[in-house]
Amino acid sequence: MTNKNLSLMIAVTAFSSACGLESSGPRDVDVDVANPTDGAVESIDTPEVKPPGSIEPPVIALSTDRCDDAAHAGEAWKQTASHHFALNFFAGTPADLDQSDILAKREAAYNEIRTALGVTQEPLVTAYLTPSRLAASANGRGAGTAYPGQNRIEVLYTGAEDGYESNRYGHELTHILEAYIDPVNLRRHPFMSEGLAEYLDQSGRDMHAAYAQQLLAGMETRVRLTTLESRDVSARNYGRAGSFVQLLVERYGMPTFLDIFRATAVTWTNGCWTHAKVGCVNTPEKLTAMLDDAIQTKAYETWAVVQQAWEQKVHEALASADTELPAADVKEIENLVRVGDLAIARRDADMYRSTLDGFYCDATADAMRDEVSRRAVSAMTGMTSKIEGIRATGIKNFRTAQVFVRRTDSRGLASFITLSVEHLPMGWRVTWGPDWF
Ligand SMILES: [Zn+2]
Repeated sequence: MTNKNLSLMIAVTAFSSACGLESSGPRDVDVDVANPTDGAVESIDTPEVKPPGSIEPPVIALSTDRCDDAAHAGEAWKQTASHHFALNFFAGTPADLDQSDILAKREAAYNEIRTALGVTQEPLVTAYLTPSRLAASANGRGAGTAYPGQNRIEVLYTGAEDGYESNRYGHELTHILEAYIDPVNLRRHPFMSEGLAEYLDQSGRDMHAAYAQQLLAGMETRVRLTTLESRDVSARNYGRAGSFVQLLVERYGMPTFLDIFRATAVTWTNGCWTHAKVGCVNTPEKLTAMLDDAIQTKAYETWAVVQQAWEQKVHEALASADTELPAADVKEIENLVRVGDLAIARRDADMYRSTLDGFYCDATADAMRDEVSRRAVSAMTGMTSKIEGIRATGIKNFRTAQVFVRRTDSRGLASFITLSVEHLPMGWRVTWGPDWF
């Protein structure tokens, strides 16, 4: 055993006892602890063994998640099929290994969603499952895209237990089956379509609680609980859309909800989602007018009445929604922020880079992350961080959270930043922060 490995073990022991928690498995500390000999993980400081109850656990180094996911560029797709699905994936990837489980879950979801929507047709769905964003991009496939009318889904399948397509595989499928609820109109306004896809995503979530989670983490606008804004026009507030759909189903039942839903049919005309009565739905006011019309026509209530009932549900959810992450995740995220601080203290850009993701590399390359790291350790000399709160925000590709951090500079001046973090296969890493631009 080398000194490096010995010091790692001491660090891990001190880390566990300092927090007073029982070890609950290998993920309790850094994910690569089980295999320290590959050099991926080592203790940064020569750690002192601290007495139990110490509040300053030593920093555990992170392995760097490089933008090196296999691209599988131009590789031939492997195929398998079931009654309603044709799956395409690359040999040896998680989708290949899990293909029978993938098909079984999607067949069950297909039945459930089709029944909920009263769809009589049985379209064959073609799905492309790539293992990473780099692989999707290199093969011209989407990383979470449905093509209604073409019956095609393009998604990432990472095989992770907390991955999106392991938990919310009903979302894109709902977009495909939704196209069959009306023989004339293929599409509804995206606010309603996204809300429905969230509601039927098979995760079993309560959509009011899920919306409250977004509000409490600052992901959606807290000052507008049930009034609409421009992000609703472009359907980017999934939490709000899902909560609204659940409210309508709770209030009127599925058949009347579907009548309201059909009454929000739109066509893509002159670059705008256009409704037969309201016209181009390009403002929050027009979106509200369209929903008011649909509810009045099909359920004989006004938007104002429904809005009041909805607001009450959201307030209840805000009072009770769970925003906590498991203790092991909190420890990992606290360590992540400490590694960032130590990197700044040592002006060590490589160490700072180890706090950043290597997954969203289709949009921003490794070189950009190296540059961000160099800039950060040079610009933020003397800066230290204190975590004020960590809020769970659900799943993006893996589980996600927002970390609210108070930074104090060498003059003692405080500022506040929010870090977006995600539970990648290598562990929790920063996927976006104010240093990234
Ligand atoms: Zn969607």
